Amino acid sequence: MQKIEKITLSTNFPIGPVNVYLLYGKKITLIDAGVKTKQAWKELNEGLHKMGLTIFEIEQIVITHHHDDHIGLLEWILEIISVPVYAHKNTQTYLQDEDYMYWSHIFFKNLLYEFGLSNKAAREWSFLKSKRELLTNLRVTKELKEGDVIPNLPEWRIIETQGHSQDHISLYCAKDRILICGDHVIDDIHVGLFLDAPFPGEKRAKPLLQYINNLKKCLSFPVEITYSGHGTDIYDLESIVNAQLRRTEKRATRLKNTLSKGEKTGLDIIKDMYPDRYENLIVTFVLEITSLLDLLIERNEVIAKKRNGIYLYRLIE
Ligand SMILES: [Zn+2]
Repeated sequence: MQKIEKITLSTNFPIGPVNVYLLYGKKITLIDAGVKTKQAWKELNEGLHKMGLTIFEIEQIVITHHHDDHIGLLEWILEIISVPVYAHKNTQTYLQDEDYMYWSHIFFKNLLYEFGLSNKAAREWSFLKSKRELLTNLRVTKELKEGDVIPNLPEWRIIETQGHSQDHISLYCAKDRILICGDHVIDDIHVGLFLDAPFPGEKRAKPLLQYINNLKKCLSFPVEITYSGHGTDIYDLESIVNAQLRRTEKRATRLKNTLSKGEKTGLDIIKDMYPDRYENLIVTFVLEITSLLDLLIERNEVIAKKRNGIYLYRLIE
């Protein structure tokens, strides 16, 4: 049986604490790296200490995706130890490339404007969405893709699980039926989908369509225990996945009910569905509704038409 240990690190995010894992393969491997706070740093060091380890014993790192609650301490760790880092091929660009950050700003500005936000609001929100502290000392040693065996963990393969982000990977051990799934599946929590800007010249992803396919993909492997990026260990992956799919269908039905009152811009859909909640979280809701609309358009239940640069959505009778 694979030896795996979990360290839970506090965050200041609404989702609560984040889990990082230690895998004892041919090399001691850290999976993910919490948030960049002194508290999380202290908790990571204390967690390692309890296992009889220190930061210096970590021999390699795998990152499940580039979100701040999974890469936060990477910079501080890499300042102390120089070890290989493995991640999806997009991760380094998302974390490090200033041109991508600028491109992302333009992409979201257009997306938000087409969704019905004013020019000024689209510019301000897209700036906030794209801006990040670049992680200058990260060098992804090897990019991991679907089916790759993880270096020094010969029993572990990569399963690409895009949806929550466009660089999301999970780790699977067939022999012991273990899945380490990052934020792909979280017990009892609706997993949000965060659209990432495509690279110049490429089309944007449809994260909900990817996400549903990748949820089903994970059910096609035998899994006895799933270690998630947040919350408790999962012993019944199928019921957790089905609950997530049911929540998605419920939201899609609510969206269709909103459109049954007539044609609407994306912003009008949000105002109708979340009248008291949307203002401070507008980007989160835009991404949620965009991905639901992708699904309903794919199913031929909704049609989008552009008028004066802004999309109008209506139900197909
Ligand atoms: Zn997370």
